[in-house]
Parts: sequence; structure tokens; C-alpha cells
Amino acid sequence: MGKMKHVEESCSFCGRSRLEIDFLLTGSEVAICNECIEQAYEIVQENRQGHFAPGNLERGELRKPVDIKKFLDQYVIGQDEAKKFLAVAVYNHYKRLERKGNHDDVEIEKSNIIMVGRTGTGKTLLARTIAKMLHVPFTIVDATVLTEAGYVGEDIESILTRLLQAADYDVAAAEKGIVFIDELDKIARKGDNPSITRDVSGEGVQQGLLKLLEGSIVNVPPQGGRKHPEQKMIPVNTKDILFICGGAFDGIERKIAQRLNTRVVGFNAGKAVEKIDRDNLLQYIAPQDLKAFGLIPEIIGRLPVLTYLEPLDRKALRAILTEPKNAITRQYIKLFAMDNIQLTFDEEVFEYIVDKAIEFKLGARGLRSICELVMTDLMFEIPSQACHAVTITKEYAASKLEKTPAHKLRA
Ligand code: ADP
Repeated sequence: MGKMKHVEESCSFCGRSRLEIDFLLTGSEVAICNECIEQAYEIVQENRQGHFAPGNLERGELRKPVDIKKFLDQYVIGQDEAKKFLAVAVYNHYKRLERKGNHDDVEIEKSNIIMVGRTGTGKTLLARTIAKMLHVPFTIVDATVLTEAGYVGEDIESILTRLLQAADYDVAAAEKGIVFIDELDKIARKGDNPSITRDVSGEGVQQGLLKLLEGSIVNVPPQGGRKHPEQKMIPVNTKDILFICGGAFDGIERKIAQRLNTRVVGFNAGKAVEKIDRDNLLQYIAPQDLKAFGLIPEIIGRLPVLTYLEPLDRKALRAILTEPKNAITRQYIKLFAMDNIQLTFDEEVFEYIVDKAIEFKLGARGLRSICELVMTDLMFEIPSQACHAVTITKEYAASKLEKTPAHKLRA
């Protein structure tokens, strides 16, 4: 009898009591809450779509750009411009795959993407979220570790090794996957002039990447590392792999400003000057700025979709704390609920955390580390205490942070 009573009062999956949720569906021995039902439904849907199927491509149910953006909105705050560009590029990319075998004279070119914006503004998050939506293999590589063959570092092909690993070595799936290349700016040529001496870190790597971006069959060492003659290679065709590149391109604003200044001399100059928003020059970014920064024109040509991310302001940071589907504070609430503890945050706590992230110039990345500092002691102690509800107040948060040496908070 006692057991039955318990079952009726709490969800057998997440453990939350009837009071904490909207409704509870009870079976003979178990109960499930509305949120767990929703999650279970999502899992079933994901499995139905097959492990790696770009959306429901096979059934012609590719999400429309507006729906792709809506999906991104659930996880990423702001960045509307970048979302729109991504949504269109991804839609066209998978449309292009759908048309395969359809031999008419219009060949749709691949729409690889480049996103420019400060670190911690959501570039990786956007790429990751797109891959999650599409159920395609996804990998992130850091351009800084790549070197030309023969130098210390990773061969360019290692990018595809990672993608193959993400696809459980299903080559066909990997060939429709997404690769996010982070810190592309770090392989820029130093300066606009092609130098006569070889630039090991920059231009050579760009040349190597070109082969991948434009689409070719690349022999990939399945375990990564250096190629050696006895190793059996896996040929991977990169024609349908979508490459999304990101980078902070520190200082590119100067190049943009220079270009805008030269352009506005002359006819109609006065008008154009008025309109320029000097505080956010990134919005005017154009391919020639990437060239001025040191990307080779061939690479720029293979990244036809160019978009930018806004710096995150106070309002955005505040929203990131609570609004995304998997927002940091929601994760803590969930973790506590699993121990049957109802966790709440006073509104002022959020403002306080945002203040600290701004004070220490930590951006969105810092929100998480600040939250961890605030929450760690509680997460250590509470599970072994007879406690069913905790509220985090600003005073509590401040007491935890004040104990932390300032250098620990700096990025
Ligand atoms: P970037 O790739 O631009 O350097 P990330 O995407 O890695 O930045 O962002 C770091 C973390 O900060 C993310 O995991 C996420 O938690 C948070 N974040 C950054 N920007 C956003 C945003 N626009 N919306 C929601 N969360 C964000």
C-alpha cells in the first residue's frame, strides 16, 4: 500500500512530486510526469528518424528555413542575422542533396558557411544545434592544431577522421555530416601580401583545407594521427559535407572601417557616413575584409555564406541564464529535482551573476563558471540532508563568490 501511495505522488522517472509538475499519469506500478512524457516522445521520434538521417530528408520532410530558425531560437539567444543565414544555407544544402541523381543542367553549389564574432557569442552552439536538429554526424575541430603534412601538429585529413568517428565509421553518413572548424582566423596569413617565404602555420593549412572545402575524395587514416604506408585508408568524399567555419577575427573591424572609409569618399558620401553604426562594424563584414585579414581568396570563395554574431549585451546574458531549453539554471533545477529537492533562484541572483560576468569580462562562457562557484557547496551538501526545498538568494551567491580569489574568475 505504502508503495502505491508513493507511486501516485511522484514521477517514477525524474522523481519529482505531483506538486512540482503539471500532471502525473499513473499506471499500475509506475507514474510519469508531463515533462518526462515529452522527453520520451522526443526520443522515440529521434529513433524513428534513424540514427543519422538529415532531418527527414528521405521522406521529403526537410524543415523549412523558418522552422530551422525556430528550432535554433530554443537553444540560442539573439543572433537573428546569423540564424537566418544558417537556416537558409542548411536548407539549401540538404535540398541540394535531395536533388542528387536529378540530372538537369542546374547544379546547386554547396553553401559552406563562415561566422565571424567574438568568442563566447554562440558560434559553436549554433553549429552544434544545427547538427542536433538534423541528426547528422558532427564534429568540431580547432584550426590552430592543423598543420601542413610533414610538420608537427595534425594533418588536415584528421578532420575527417573525427567526422568518421562521430559517424561510428558509417562512411555514407559521414559524407553528409557537418564539420565545424573553429578559430579559422588563426590560420590567416600574416598581412595582406602573399609572402615569398613559406608560411607554415597559415597559408599552407589554408591550401590544405581548400581541398576539403571544394569537395574531393580524401584518403582518411581511420585512427587519425600521421599517415603511414601500411595503414589502410578510408576514402571519404567531401562533396556533400557541410563546413561551418568560425572565428573571432580580432581587429577585423579596423579592416572594415578602412574599407567603409575609402568607399564613402565621393559621390553620395555624406549619406553613407550617416548610416554607419561605428559601434558594431561587424555587421558590414564583406568577403574582402576576410582577404585583408589574411584568408586566401580561394578559401573565401569556398565559404560563400558569410555572417556575423553580435556581442552579447546585458539583456542577452540575462536571457542565456534562464531561457534556452537547456539553460544553465534549468539544469541545476533538474539535477536537484532528481534528488527530490525543489530549487529556486531569487530574481536578483540572475542580475548579480550577470553583473559579475560583465565585471570580469567573462561573457557567456563565464556564466557557467560563476554558477558552478555558487552551486558547488550546495550540490555537495544537500543530497545528504533531509531537505526538500532550497532558494538561492543574492546574499548566498555573493558569499560564495566573495570567497573566490579574483584571478580564478578571470578568463
Ligand atoms: P563561440 O563558439 O562563439 O566562442 P560558444 O558557442 O562556444 O561560443 O559559447 C560558449 C557558451 O556560452 C555556450 O556553450 C553557451 O552556453 C553560451 N552561449 C554563448 N552564446 C550564446 C547564445 N547566443 N545563446 C545561448 N547561449 C550562449
